[in-house]
Amino acid sequence: MKLVYTHPSSIAVAQARNALELAGIQCVLRNEYAAGAMGELAPIDVWPELWVLRDRDYERASLLLEQSRTEIREADWFCPGCGRHSPATFELCWHCAAERTPL
Ligand SMILES: [Zn+2]
Repeated sequence: MKLVYTHPSSIAVAQARNALELAGIQCVLRNEYAAGAMGELAPIDVWPELWVLRDRDYERASLLLEQSRTEIREADWFCPGCGRHSPATFELCWHCAAERTPL
């Protein structure tokens, strides 16, 4: 097994796992529950980790994650109602309180 990805957000790591599973790469999560509630960040020594089961998948996996890095990052977003820019941590538009829409 090889560690291919780690991030303080369990959401980001879960998204990375989904990306690899879609590509048919077998992988496992470790420290999955370290981060606790949604959006909470884990201390650095217990970051959720994503491991590939087969070492030969490692290069393809890291390439895939490299390519999808912009999707994995919890990105800033633009309001569908008023077009204003909100930071990733906001669930509602700061301007018109419209709900954030999925990417
Ligand atoms: Zn808005």
